[in-house]
Amino acid sequence: MSEVIHSSTKSRCSRVYASFTCLMLVLTLSLGSLTPASAQMIPPIDERIEQELDALLSETNAQPLEAEYLNLLARVNESTPLATRVRLYSYLAFEEAYAENFQAAWNYIEMAEAQINDTTLADIKSEVIASRIEIHLLAGERNKAFALLNDIDLVLVNAVTPRIRYYANNLLARIYADRNQYQRALEYYIAANEAVGETNNDRTPIRRLYLKQSIATMYTELKKYDAALEVISEGLTETAEQNLNHMYYGNFMLLKGFVETSLNRYEAALTTYTNLEQYASRTDSNELLVIVLNNIGDIDIRTGDYEDARDVLMRANLIAEELGDEYTLQLLQFNLGMVDVKQGRFEEGFPKMTEAMDYFRENAIRIEVAETLGELADAYGTAGLYQQQAEALLEQRELREIIYDTEQQRHIADMQSLYDTKDKEQQIKLLKQQNELREQLLANEKQRQLILGLFVLVAAFAIVIVFMLYRSARRANLKLAEANTQLADQSIRDPLTGLLNRRALQQELQQKQRRSKDNTTEDAMILLDVDHFKRINDHYGHAAGDVVLVEVANRLREISRDTDKIIRWGGEEFLIYLTEAEHDALPRLTKRVLDAIGAKPIDCEGTPLRVTATAGFISFPFADLNNNEMDWEQTLQLADLALYAGKVHGRNQAWGVMELNIPFEEAKPTLERDLPGAIARNIISVTTIEGPEAPTS
Ligand code: GH3
Ligand code: MG
Ligand code: MG
Repeated sequence: MSEVIHSSTKSRCSRVYASFTCLMLVLTLSLGSLTPASAQMIPPIDERIEQELDALLSETNAQPLEAEYLNLLARVNESTPLATRVRLYSYLAFEEAYAENFQAAWNYIEMAEAQINDTTLADIKSEVIASRIEIHLLAGERNKAFALLNDIDLVLVNAVTPRIRYYANNLLARIYADRNQYQRALEYYIAANEAVGETNNDRTPIRRLYLKQSIATMYTELKKYDAALEVISEGLTETAEQNLNHMYYGNFMLLKGFVETSLNRYEAALTTYTNLEQYASRTDSNELLVIVLNNIGDIDIRTGDYEDARDVLMRANLIAEELGDEYTLQLLQFNLGMVDVKQGRFEEGFPKMTEAMDYFRENAIRIEVAETLGELADAYGTAGLYQQQAEALLEQRELREIIYDTEQQRHIADMQSLYDTKDKEQQIKLLKQQNELREQLLANEKQRQLILGLFVLVAAFAIVIVFMLYRSARRANLKLAEANTQLADQSIRDPLTGLLNRRALQQELQQKQRRSKDNTTEDAMILLDVDHFKRINDHYGHAAGDVVLVEVANRLREISRDTDKIIRWGGEEFLIYLTEAEHDALPRLTKRVLDAIGAKPIDCEGTPLRVTATAGFISFPFADLNNNEMDWEQTLQLADLALYAGKVHGRNQAWGVMELNIPFEEAKPTLERDLPGAIARNIISVTTIEGPEAPTS
């Protein structure tokens, strides 16, 4: 008895989801917007029109699209490829069929058919035959639809367009599933799945989910509830992940509730249905709502809550009447009849049930008829009508024998494992593609890093080179500056003695003149000439002469102040220019100079040489004469004359021009030419100083 109740209740449910998946048949079509993965042998299409057809199919909810299709039809001309034209005619035919204008639908199909000939490709032929089958089904002409199954089988095997293969194989799979020929159904699902596998775009998950749902349905039909629940759970997860609730949530949840009910998990089933009821209300989906309410009523019957069952079934009935869905109305009547019977109102209950039963025998698929018969038998049992109960059970058993053919079950197992293998293969293929993509991305990243690395390296090199260039340039500049300084230094120095040269003095005095216009400082000049120098050269050689010159220079440096300037004036002539030298101190200073040179012999390569010098000295300015009257060169000339006088008077002595005794203008002519005369005539006063005495050896 309980066994019967279970199976009969399943019949109510199975009827329900079968009718709901009938809606899905229409949906299958809208999944058809497949992009071919390979263009090989695929018949030509009008890309733009096909794209628009795809876009129209992607629009959710079955709004009439006839106007849009007619707009597209207006763009069709002689040059439009046949495949596109046939597709368009088919869709127009479906629109008419949905609106139950079957005559108009067949007219479109005939228009499509008229274009086909013997050479027409398998794809186009498949599409037209599939459309015919679809319209027969929509018209409720199952037998006519079945009659075309052989025809489509012959051409579909050669079709290559993924969209057509997916659509047609799905259609056929559903038909076989409805006929309980699960083995055939699985074959077509596999073919459909292969077509899906040739595409990889945003619609692929939709198609995969559609297949999952179909397989879950099949497991349910086969009472493989655990397998069904597993697929359903996968399906629900994927549906949520892909944001496809509007397409699949209702179906998977209906299946879930049904399986849970079949497993006597009423609490779980009620939770599932309550969630689904809320979802249906929220999304204004009355078709779904009516089914959910019916199934809740079914559970109430099972748990003996008959009043609750009646309430919820009546609610469902109101909505079904609104929808005008005859099948659902019959189903609800059957279940309401069951409530009557369970509550002892046999006269009211049985007519409802038998009337619905007759309708199901005519319109339902075998498995549903069988399950409903079990339900009816249960009702007869409740009423003690055992004769009728036995008849119903007998009818049910005959049907079941046809349905659950053992041979077929064996095939199913084979086909299921084949399907699983194929599905795995596809997943592996997809994973491989993803891996390849990832590797490519990785390679790109590596390349990018390599380029970056090279760039950094080049930049580093450039920086190093620039730095090195900068350093060498700086070094060169420094050297140049050094060389310049050296050159500048060399230009004012005598290379042998390192003393200043004539040019240096000229520069110095010019600068000094510029600094102070009127020469306020009292300077002085001592001009020296080495005595008999020629002899040294002659006796000891030129090199020895050089040594003497260097030593004389050193001795002059030693006794000079920092402010004094020592100049190599000529060959063996030296000039000491004293800055701020007191006029009266001049003879004493000159004496020091003569002593420095002549007091000690000069060591010349081991030979001590006695060297003396003769000097002439003078203050500058001389006798307060201004620069215009007597410049430094004219003054020096006077010192030179004094030096000459020293030579004449025996050497190793100094003569200083000390005073001017008459006005310069008068003295000038004599001074320039004849110093001894000027001295003799007392035009000037001179001081003479003796050099050092020869050491007594
Ligand atoms: P006096 O006492 O009259 O000055 O005799 P003196 O030999 O020094 O006179 P004079 O001016 O005729 O000779 C100077 C010599 O100095 C002539 C020249 O060969 C030599 N002399 C000039 N410059 C250098 C030099 O740089 N090195 C050497 N070794 N000899 C030089
Ligand atoms: Mg000389
Ligand atoms: Mg000399």
